[in-house]
Amino acid sequence: MNVLLIEDEVNLSEALCHLLKKENYSVDAAFDGQDGLEKGLSGRYDIILLDIMLPKKNGYDVLKELREAKVSTPVILLTAKNQISDKIKGLDLGADDYVSKPFSASELMARMRALLRRKTDKLATNELEYGGLTLNLSSYELSSKDKKIKITLKEGQILELLMANPNHVITKDDLIIKIWGYESDAEYNNIEVYISFLRKKIEYLKTSVVIETVRGLGYKLV
Ligand code: CA
Repeated sequence: MNVLLIEDEVNLSEALCHLLKKENYSVDAAFDGQDGLEKGLSGRYDIILLDIMLPKKNGYDVLKELREAKVSTPVILLTAKNQISDKIKGLDLGADDYVSKPFSASELMARMRALLRRKTDKLATNELEYGGLTLNLSSYELSSKDKKIKITLKEGQILELLMANPNHVITKDDLIIKIWGYESDAEYNNIEVYISFLRKKIEYLKTSVVIETVRGLGYKLV
């Protein structure tokens, strides 16, 4: 599980990183809103922990820009503000949950687990939709308005990542890490083969959606 922690208080950030790593999360820390936003836009995180009062760009703006860019990574706000209206604002902007500072580590961990569980449940039953293309993640069927085709597990996982982050480059390394895992010896060739299968299937469905190659980087769905 990849966690992005956007928090400018160095002591708190270090303590949280330490704790999360102990719980086997892999963590990247950003110390201002701008850096946090850029990291978050990569779409490579399973969860984002986001402080509100941040240098360069506040947490609300980071959240707003992530959601506008269709990055749907679950976000937990770490808020020092205890006003109900601030919490509502955060939730309206697309946060999934919040904890009020000072919070206990066990509370944060419990909320993270709950959110990740919810995300997994959702993925087990839900469909992703983009540009007239629908991916059903329980039946592994890809469909358009009047056509339907079966896809394999790996194809589904690759397409899920692309469809959850449309118009964003997903690097080949992202795909390997997210789908095959850090320890895997999967190579770029494997991905290229799956992408070419997926392209044929998408083409068969006759939507306007295509998987573009971004030379030297990876792929994006447009
Ligand atoms: Ca802060």
